[in-house]
Amino acid sequence: MTDSLPIRARADIAALPPYRQGRQAGADAFKLSSNENPFEPLPSVVAALQGATGVNRYPDASAALLRARLAERFGVTADEVHIAAGSVSILLQLVLATSGPGDEIIYAWRSFEAYPGHVKIAGATAVEVPLLADGRHDLDAMAAAVTDRTRLIIVCSPNNPTGPIVTQTEFEQFLARIPADVLVILDEAYAEFVTDPEAVDGLRELGVIRPNVVALRTFSKAYGLAGLRVGYAVGHRRVLDLARSTAIPLSVTAAAESAALVSLDAEAELLDRVRELTDRRAALVDGLRAQGWRVPETQGNFVWLDTRADSQRIAATFDEGGIIVRPYGDDGLRISIGEAETVEKVLQIAASVVDTLA
Ligand code: PMP
Repeated sequence: MTDSLPIRARADIAALPPYRQGRQAGADAFKLSSNENPFEPLPSVVAALQGATGVNRYPDASAALLRARLAERFGVTADEVHIAAGSVSILLQLVLATSGPGDEIIYAWRSFEAYPGHVKIAGATAVEVPLLADGRHDLDAMAAAVTDRTRLIIVCSPNNPTGPIVTQTEFEQFLARIPADVLVILDEAYAEFVTDPEAVDGLRELGVIRPNVVALRTFSKAYGLAGLRVGYAVGHRRVLDLARSTAIPLSVTAAAESAALVSLDAEAELLDRVRELTDRRAALVDGLRAQGWRVPETQGNFVWLDTRADSQRIAATFDEGGIIVRPYGDDGLRISIGEAETVEKVLQIAASVVDTLA
């Protein structure tokens, strides 16, 4: 059979490459390429999954128990919370709900790789605003990029893959420059790893958050439930209704919802693990800087190496040393904070290549 597309389809989608996952690690390698949580699931999470019954029935479509629980926690109403199969799903729901052909979506670049893909799926136009040299968002340039066609702005704090946060003050000053009818998504997938008290927190001070702002969070990172796919958004009820309208119904499984609920019960223990990871992060950043690397001020569970044209070669060296990292073209590479022993391993390999940089 010929390999040409046998049906008529949208040309822009036919040209869109499907999502490609970072390489999986073999048994003897550490996978530090997907910002996953290295800790095993809590016994209570395993028990919740084993105890899952009634899988012959559909789950509750709105994940009402989890919504109620999060609403109570953040002091909002249940309809100001929206749950989906990963926060990446909510991003797509809001992109589709706000933007189509002719509309513009502004985000910093580099940032989370799903943003450009989602914009293309919607047939909208991406307006990518380069990061500052230190890996931070250029919020001035992002505000200046707004036009009559802007429908959505995505701010990622901490920024994946470079690591820096946006401060609360910077975010408020930025919002003051954005038209009130343009949606701003604050993507806080790594919020729980933030130790900088100046950082924006979309949920701490909901009073200052305007109706056009949605805060996006996930159970994939700090809560270690990446494989179960649970993310949530907090924002204005009518804005979240748009996401509920474009959502694929019934995507959040009952098992995922109950694992998220028991994880909230075990939050203190999970946050102890987060503290261990942020300690490892500090050790890694200090060690890398002592070797001469320029490492941006990261607040996520990952560090960014400014390896530029050497990125692929250095990623291959890590690979040979049993550490799978994520190279980004000719920009740099990202290394997740993983198991305790990876800190020394990463530092050893980094030391062996630092003098080979172009
Ligand atoms: N936002 C950012 C910035 C991310 O890095 C990720 C995961 N890599 C997500 C959102 C999506 O996370 P999930 O869909 O697992 O909730």
